[in-house]
Amino acid sequence: MKAISVLGSTGSIGTQTLAIVEEFPQRFRVVALTAGRNLDLLVDQIRRHGPEVVALADAEALPELRRRLEALEPAQRPARQPELLGGSEGLCAAAAWGSADLVVTGIVGCAGLLPTLAAIKAGKDLALANKETLIAAGPVVLPALKASGSRLLPADSEHSALFQCLQGTPWADTARLSTGVPTPGLRRIQLTASGGAFRDWPAADLAKATVADATSHPNWSMGRKITVDSATLMNKGLEVIEAHYLFGLDYDHIEIVIHPQSIIHSMVELADSSVLAQLGWPDMRLPLLYCLSWPERLETPWRRLDLTEVGQLSFRAPDEQKYPCMGLAYAAGRAGGTMPAVLNAANEQAVALFLEERISFLDIPLLIESVCERHGADLRQDPSLEDVLAIDAWARLATSELAATASPALLTA
Ligand code: NAD
Ligand code: MG
Repeated sequence: MKAISVLGSTGSIGTQTLAIVEEFPQRFRVVALTAGRNLDLLVDQIRRHGPEVVALADAEALPELRRRLEALEPAQRPARQPELLGGSEGLCAAAAWGSADLVVTGIVGCAGLLPTLAAIKAGKDLALANKETLIAAGPVVLPALKASGSRLLPADSEHSALFQCLQGTPWADTARLSTGVPTPGLRRIQLTASGGAFRDWPAADLAKATVADATSHPNWSMGRKITVDSATLMNKGLEVIEAHYLFGLDYDHIEIVIHPQSIIHSMVELADSSVLAQLGWPDMRLPLLYCLSWPERLETPWRRLDLTEVGQLSFRAPDEQKYPCMGLAYAAGRAGGTMPAVLNAANEQAVALFLEERISFLDIPLLIESVCERHGADLRQDPSLEDVLAIDAWARLATSELAATASPALLTA
């Protein structure tokens, strides 16, 4: 019986992880949950899973959570009353909870950084969904993993695919994952991308893209932030940096290929030019289950892949003019040090402003580029955690200030 903690339990990753736990009650149990502010769903999750500890990001909502748990009918009450914690310290304590074997990081954005580091310091293995944490703080997270011996199992579908493919090579060595040392014999990574909401739009129409347009994904059902990242292809750019930190390859050997059907979840090319790919329907439960069951494979009744039903798999090179976020991510990754943290924070802030309809879709890359340029002279190659947190805060502020003064003129400038 593996004990699982779910950070961000009320989100897309969190709810899918809990659905897997419910499907395999003999294999997995939940010991810790953390959430932002969705109390209705959280109370239901506490009832169903009976965790030992629950942490709310919004500490002010704790009394209300306590009141709702106490108001449950006796038959509805969880098997045990969980310890209730709040705020950043509470999230970190829940992430480091003693009885957990594996921590699923489903918090969105750099808000996941401190809880993730707390879990690593406590020696927990992680199922990494919260890519922003690794991207913003790779130079801090990698040494922390080395010091504690925690393993970072990739939950992102592309990186899970790469991880699964590498299990099929004679050089497979999980201990090498996220050490910064490239896997021997791994020559090239190809990350597949669905192309996001605007893959069939002419570039000229992107200026008119609305929030509703950008938050409807053709293949995957996910949280709002990552769905916008998929529409700008920043998600793929972030995944390039994520792959660099996980698998140790340099940026010249990590490529993006548009694959609209999302059946091949990514590919590795080995030294002899053989290419291995992992296939499946686009369903996040599969990479999440693999994180939970690894190194085992569990039997599921899930829909089996039928390539005759798919008919065709197609591929094309990404359009760098239409999607400047990809190039910005490569540039930030190559610059290294604190630059990916700036890229990530500027992106989080720009996407939040776009979702609030305060900037247009095409402003997103323009703001990120400007803020990354400003950071150039201050870049630090070997930042501390404090440096990363300070730079993350600076980049958010710089993005907002720039948006307030330059948008919408930014677009036409
Ligand atoms: P989501 O918005 O659906 O859920 C986010 C969760 O984090 C919620 O539980 C929310 O309450 C919590 N949260 C939000 N802000 C918080 C804060 N400041 N402090 C603490 N908790 C907070 O997001 P999601 O789609 O589940 O994505 C979660 C992470 O997984 C992201 O990093 C995303 O890039 C990654 N990811 C998601 C998918 C997917 O299919 N959804 C796929 C690959 C990777
Ligand atoms: Mg992905």
